[in-house]
Amino acid sequence: MEKKNIDWANLGFGYIPTEKRFVANYTKGAWDNGVLTEDATVTMSECAGVLQYAQTVFEGLKAYTTEDGRVVTFRPDLNASRMADSARRLEMPVFPEDKFIEAVVATVKANMAYVPPYGSGATLYIRPYMFGINPVIGVKPADDYQFRIFCTPVGPYFKGGVKPLTIKISDFDRAAPNGTGNIKAGLNYAMSLHAIVTAHEEGYDENMYLDAATRTKVEETGGANFIFVTKDGKIVTPKSNSILPSITRRSLMHVAKEYLGLEVEEREVYKDELENFAEAGLCGTAAVISPVGKIVDHGKEICLPSGMTEMGPITKKLYDTLTGIQMGRIEAPEGWIKEIK
Ligand SMILES: *Cc1c(COP(=O)(O)O)cnc(C)c1O
Repeated sequence: MEKKNIDWANLGFGYIPTEKRFVANYTKGAWDNGVLTEDATVTMSECAGVLQYAQTVFEGLKAYTTEDGRVVTFRPDLNASRMADSARRLEMPVFPEDKFIEAVVATVKANMAYVPPYGSGATLYIRPYMFGINPVIGVKPADDYQFRIFCTPVGPYFKGGVKPLTIKISDFDRAAPNGTGNIKAGLNYAMSLHAIVTAHEEGYDENMYLDAATRTKVEETGGANFIFVTKDGKIVTPKSNSILPSITRRSLMHVAKEYLGLEVEEREVYKDELENFAEAGLCGTAAVISPVGKIVDHGKEICLPSGMTEMGPITKKLYDTLTGIQMGRIEAPEGWIKEIK
């Protein structure tokens, strides 16, 4: 397979269209088989449900080249089931989970020339999404839907080295109790934009959102879950039903326990405990883990002992182990790696 002539190491995180994308349509109560197409545009009614009432959900995962030259994705079954959960919550028809995985495989296979080589740090980002496409003006679910997958090569996340983040405890809320915080829907991102733009203007990298009901407990950032390391080396992650269940975070908790022999705990984490932690990190597909160096609560600075120059030692171990599993350097748990062939 001849690779595209792309400067992989210097790619950013932006949309670079590839040759093929997958499109399936849901009409008259059923999904069609879907096709791969070169047409990167979507044509729809001016009154499409997604445009009027934001009926859309999405997923994000990556394909990459392992040390021994295989092209793989990481736990796509969990993306399939999470997208099914998201769809049900927004009254959308579920795209069958087995078909989801087949479509991911077909899309990556059709774009093999864009899968970055091993060692480049770059990956092929895969974006499945679906939306209500027929005209909807009275508020109700759409009747017809489109499911699509495109992919785009993205550069190494830690270009120029790891820089621990400075994050702000936000005065905005991300998700209501019993709301939509636990599904991957564009609507959760639309409402986070003002908060993140404001935080960036103030010099912060990210927002830490608290639980909306009591504003005493840590939830997550706009697009990544937290893990914390206690001073005695225990891994703690916040438990809440308004957090998006990150596949990276769930995988890291498994790695911590089963590969590193660490104690792990998913429990409510109070804002007042933050100053007791030794390390903190943000988990998501994009970075795997980004270390947090400083958390600012209305002028009060909480500086993590791991500092502002590198990942904390346990965060680093977690990062190295999970990326080792993903890149085929460390044996993966059964079913975690889906080879594209
Ligand atoms: C996608 C997402 C994450 C990260 O999930 P991964 O499955 O690890 O990529 C975390 N929080 C939010 C709000 C998200 O949308």
